[in-house]
Amino acid sequence: MPAAEPTLLQSLGERAKEISRRELATYSDRTAASQVANARARRALPLGVPSSFQDYDPYPIVIEHAEEYWSRDVDGNRYVDYNMGFGALFAGHLHPAVRRAVEGQLDHGTLFVTPCPANAEVAELLGARYGFPLWRFTNSGTEATMDALRVARAATKRDKIVKVEGGYHGHHDEVMVSMKPSLDVAGPAHAPVAVASSAGVTRGVVADTGVVPYNDPEALERALKGRDVAAFIVEPVMQNIGICLPLPGYLEAVREICTRYGTLLVFDEVKTGITAGWGGATGTLGVVPDLVALAKSIGGGLPLGAFGGKKEYMDEITERRVVHLGTYNGNPLCMAAATAVLAEVCTPAVTQETIARNHRLVEACRATIDARGLPANVVEFGAKGCVTWSVEPIRNYRDYKATDLDLAFAQWIHGINRGALLPTGLDEQWLISVRHTDEAAMHYANVFEEFVDELLS
Ligand code: PMP
Repeated sequence: MPAAEPTLLQSLGERAKEISRRELATYSDRTAASQVANARARRALPLGVPSSFQDYDPYPIVIEHAEEYWSRDVDGNRYVDYNMGFGALFAGHLHPAVRRAVEGQLDHGTLFVTPCPANAEVAELLGARYGFPLWRFTNSGTEATMDALRVARAATKRDKIVKVEGGYHGHHDEVMVSMKPSLDVAGPAHAPVAVASSAGVTRGVVADTGVVPYNDPEALERALKGRDVAAFIVEPVMQNIGICLPLPGYLEAVREICTRYGTLLVFDEVKTGITAGWGGATGTLGVVPDLVALAKSIGGGLPLGAFGGKKEYMDEITERRVVHLGTYNGNPLCMAAATAVLAEVCTPAVTQETIARNHRLVEACRATIDARGLPANVVEFGAKGCVTWSVEPIRNYRDYKATDLDLAFAQWIHGINRGALLPTGLDEQWLISVRHTDEAAMHYANVFEEFVDELLS
């Protein structure tokens, strides 16, 4: 790459800061009621938010209504929603079929704590997509990865797990390690050290969690060769540092190395789940894990997670060695929503159409980047996409850390002031739902072009 490009990135970064300063003032003017609501909430909730992911600068907008592909905040501003519940709403906001299913269930009760007929149906629907025979339900992605890892430990009779640096798998202790470590404590790029991502995670847990760079099979092999690692947990396509694709052959190598050292391969498909294709990333990429964790979009907006896998591993539960529990597991309300999503709404044809719609948005953003020769690239996977401010596509967390976050913030705040509600965290990506029209999807391409023009003016 020509040496001039970093300089261009730097000067664009300066211009981005100017845009951000102006847009922050506009944001305050447009979102006065959100600011008041946030100030009130801060007196009753730490940071004024129910999950720390919802805390962002300068203060979060407060949403009072959402439908189809859009939402409205307490100031009456309307947004095309590209965040879609951090990717949980592939079916859109309250799809009519989901609503019908949930309303139908309300006539019959919400919680039985004894099985309901839909338990088997939803498990079979997931089985058809993933090819795994046995499933259990949870209430979140966190629980799904937590339970899958426990099954892996039981099946292998090993304590340790290995995860990817920069990977997010929920908020249970063993994966709250090296989520976004500060580079001054994270060790060398090719041999990162495990760093607790929250106070309260014990040293013992950190000692049992190994960390490797994504897209580095040699590092994985070094981590597993002691034959004491129960599971390698990984998003097949990383979606918490933008979108980071596997290099050709990486996942195949991962599969082979895990098998060789008796480590179970756990795919975290909480985000890629049904958004990457009808059979998730597993179906799209063709590498089969031992266990898979799902959540987000399978619930159609209701809290639902699931994990499933090969019979020999899920039989840890059948044979009562692993105790998997939960009052709300498989509750009929979430099951009704999931049945509608999996059987009626996100059919193979609709999934494909939506992915094609996303591709048109991606191509439009790519055309803008290419026409101006910007040091940026747009990455897509399934119905998701994101713009990353780096010359080359990122391959791992260290590459992500080198991307230009000033530009990313300016782009986000510029977008929100123009009715494009992108994910708040700069680590996330957009999701085109089955309810986004072509026009709604393309709104972002137009706003992005406008941003780029300002950046270069
Ligand atoms: N795994 C991944 C890949 C995720 O992105 C998330 C949530 N962003 C989780 C697990 C945790 O899911 P939940 O928030 O439902 O606990």
